[in-house]
Amino acid sequence: MNYHIATIPGDGIGPEIVREACKVLDQTGKVFGHTFQYTEVLMGGCSIDAYGVPLTEEALETAKKSDSVLLGAVGGNVGNSRWYDVAPNLRPEAGLLAIRKGLNLFANIRPAYLYQELAAACPLKKEIIGEGFDLVIMRELTGGLYFGERWTKEVDGVMTAVDTLTYNENEIRRIAVKAFDIAMKRKKHVTSVDKANVLDSSRLWRKVVEEVAKDYPEVTLTHMLVDNCAMQLVMNPGQFDVILTENMFGDILSDEASMITGSIGMLSSASMNESKFGLYEPSHGSAPDIAGMDVANPIATILSAAMMLRYSFDLDQEASAIEKAVQQVLTEGYRTADIYSPGCEKVGCSRMGDLIAERIR
Ligand code: NAD
Repeated sequence: MNYHIATIPGDGIGPEIVREACKVLDQTGKVFGHTFQYTEVLMGGCSIDAYGVPLTEEALETAKKSDSVLLGAVGGNVGNSRWYDVAPNLRPEAGLLAIRKGLNLFANIRPAYLYQELAAACPLKKEIIGEGFDLVIMRELTGGLYFGERWTKEVDGVMTAVDTLTYNENEIRRIAVKAFDIAMKRKKHVTSVDKANVLDSSRLWRKVVEEVAKDYPEVTLTHMLVDNCAMQLVMNPGQFDVILTENMFGDILSDEASMITGSIGMLSSASMNESKFGLYEPSHGSAPDIAGMDVANPIATILSAAMMLRYSFDLDQEASAIEKAVQQVLTEGYRTADIYSPGCEKVGCSRMGDLIAERIR
């Protein structure tokens, strides 16, 4: 098959890490008989330099016409860059919000996987880590508290602020369907996280998730209150497969989950719309402090490309081949500087990409 991918290298280490992900995709294509065609799109600071805005209409159109999007990262040194001497809607990160909105990406997927080779970086005790953990957080991205009506004003002489948490059944259903679809490709277990003992929106959430679950008899569903989930993530992360949750709970829980893996350079992510279209990107930023030095860890971006193959193109075997190659490189002792430990061999960004590409089979 032939797939059209819009690449958005962005700023800082973005171009370096996207280059390595494309290298690995190309090798995967060679081994499995696919071709990947790339159209490069400017977003972030580089787009500001070229066009005066962080994302042009043309760039968004190119992304829309592609089969999926691979993003590096955008942004520069916040305290020390001309990109930030402008209104917030003209700064590099505004491009991210614009592309997410323009592509209607309502489902955010963040995996948290612990490689045994990197277990020393995990802040949890060995007896808690056990056999390790492999979970994904499916977070609703375009509804809830962050998008509800809000105001601040004086009421009866007292300053008062209100934020509104709104979800309708359609918004809940579409994200639940995504979570169950993804569980079908994994260990077939969904934990739906809410605060149904207090919030009406959570009670509706629970009801709709239960309705969706009926269409997935192979998937087991449990409900968990968000405060308990925050605790369970650090007490027994191995119990989770897919955690399904609303926007704000997901924001907090996905940061907690990434923290327990211990290595920011390893964390991939995806944001999807109602179809199989997705935007795939590492969870980290543009790391301007190490840009252009060939020391960045490209693995988060390479694993994001593997997610693209699995979730947008249904190329499960090819995605597994990339994940296995990453695992093998770590087992053989190769490390970029951010995950280096004594006794391992330190390699740069480009060499790490080569090593992973060479192990695709
Ligand atoms: P960051 O994630 O870029 O960097 C934090 C620290 O982690 C730095 O020390 C960096 O060197 C290191 N790091 C990050 N990724 C790494 C990698 N792949 N390999 C090795 N080390 C890595 O976060 P920050 O410093 O807070 O932000 C820098 C810029 O990135 C800012 O302009 C911010 O707005 C932007 N940002 C963009 C995105 C995005 O594009 N999605 C996300 C977060 C931050």
